Amino acid sequence: MSVDVEVKTFPLFINGKWESSSSRETFDVINPATGELVAKVAKGTKEDVDKAVQAASAAFENTAWREMKPKDRAKVLYAISHQIITHAEELVYLEVISSGGTLRRISSNDILQMADLFQTLAKFTLEYPFSENLPSPPFPGPAHNFIWREPIGVCAAITPWNMPMLIATWKIAPALAMGNTIVIKPASFTPLTTLKLAEIISEVVPPGVINVVTGSGTEVGEPLATHPKVEKIAFTGSTEIGRKIMTLAAGTVKNTTLELGGKSPNILLEDADLSIALPGSLFGVFLHSGQLCESGTRLFVPDKLHDQVVEGLVKLTSTLKLGNPLLEGTDIGPVISKQQRDTVLSYIEAGIEEGATVVCGGKEVAVPGCEGGYFIEPTIFINVKNDMKIAQEEIFGPVLTVIRYSEIEEVIEMANDTIYGLAAGVWTKDVNKAYDVARKLRAGVVWINDWHMLRNDAPFGGYKQSGIGREMGKHSLDAYTQLKHVHTSMVPELHKRNWYQLLFSETE
Ligand code: NAP
Repeated sequence: MSVDVEVKTFPLFINGKWESSSSRETFDVINPATGELVAKVAKGTKEDVDKAVQAASAAFENTAWREMKPKDRAKVLYAISHQIITHAEELVYLEVISSGGTLRRISSNDILQMADLFQTLAKFTLEYPFSENLPSPPFPGPAHNFIWREPIGVCAAITPWNMPMLIATWKIAPALAMGNTIVIKPASFTPLTTLKLAEIISEVVPPGVINVVTGSGTEVGEPLATHPKVEKIAFTGSTEIGRKIMTLAAGTVKNTTLELGGKSPNILLEDADLSIALPGSLFGVFLHSGQLCESGTRLFVPDKLHDQVVEGLVKLTSTLKLGNPLLEGTDIGPVISKQQRDTVLSYIEAGIEEGATVVCGGKEVAVPGCEGGYFIEPTIFINVKNDMKIAQEEIFGPVLTVIRYSEIEEVIEMANDTIYGLAAGVWTKDVNKAYDVARKLRAGVVWINDWHMLRNDAPFGGYKQSGIGREMGKHSLDAYTQLKHVHTSMVPELHKRNWYQLLFSETE
């Protein structure tokens, strides 16, 4: 697949138009499958962030946008969905060549999920309780009370490189659905599709409603997280930077949602159907070279099944084809960068040093036709203890750790023994047993006999240090609104007002 598009230089996108950065500098975007330059992108600055926030702030002052009726807003969301489908081919191509995700996944999953998210939130917007009446209780006196849900204002989004355009829509869709405006800083490895999304969305929303400032975390992300006119920040990325965002946002007390890292436990019970559980567990960890926050990186296997399971996993892993993600036959693409490849390889070294055993993979690999790319063999470790570095730290690469257990109580304890709590899974033929395990797992999502099943109508987010708040689903709309309580007294006489005697002792 190739698309005839100009991908060489991308400016910033501010107030409905392309803008040069005040630095006049650019940075390179590299195809991780080949190491080749695919685009140059404007290096934004603090000044550019301010310009984008001022544009978003002016757009928020436009009451035609902020107070748009739900049925009209739903039409806008449907129009955005249509724009995504219309521009799907270009979006998919740009995403593949910059993120290294496979064409197969991005064209048959991500792009459809994105379009569907705007449609799903359009339906929720029509049902959303923007105004809610409260009953009139006898105390503190007859009154009419209601609650309004209003947009927050200028929202900032800072996004990662693993699924850049999908994750950008998790923030853009609820922000716009509730009448906010937004400034997005995409990850520096993968800014192209966020810029393209802003361009196509701006064709159906007023100027300034969506803006993108590209550039580094320190030069663009930090000014965004501290800007006094930004009232909400939604961050997806590592737990380490998430902590920093929280600290930066505290200075102006911003409403903050964080989607952070994971080290998700995947539990095989003795009665699991291995014909599904084994490929399912590999899908759970090797999709996108393991660069997904919800990847099932710790596989807990009962002693009785251990050898059979490991043999099956190794056999299946040997069938996975590494290659150019643009080719339909490729199962696994590269990792995002040379630096990420080195990080993953150093984790593999650390695992070996701690006494774990590699039963397949473990090395970088040269892919014919992709000589400059960053590929790592899908890797499986056995003899892993849950307190090893490879079982506790997020590797964000194609590395599965297999951990044995004998008792169910023991496996639940190990599964929860991590700072993270994003996702978890259990494989069994007994649904009641599965629910019992699911209740005990401290994670934002539990998949039973499945993995990676994110839904646009269900909330996604983490327990513990995997984050704060939820994206997608109805609940994501709450995260982009604030509540206003409006009270109207229905007591005409002064002396009958409940408060009158609270302050005034002299009565007429
Ligand atoms: P990252 O290093 O934390 O970066 C995320 C974003 O933060 C990037 O846009 C980055 O900009 C920016 N950033 C870096 N330093 C910053 C600073 N000081 N101030 C403000 N912004 C800053 O994460 P990543 O490596 O891109 O992505 C991988 C991580 O994301 C993994 O930990 C993964 O688990 C997590 N993730 C979580 C979810 C979820 O939903 N829970 C989903 C996907 C990924 P630059 O690119 O310019 O450095």
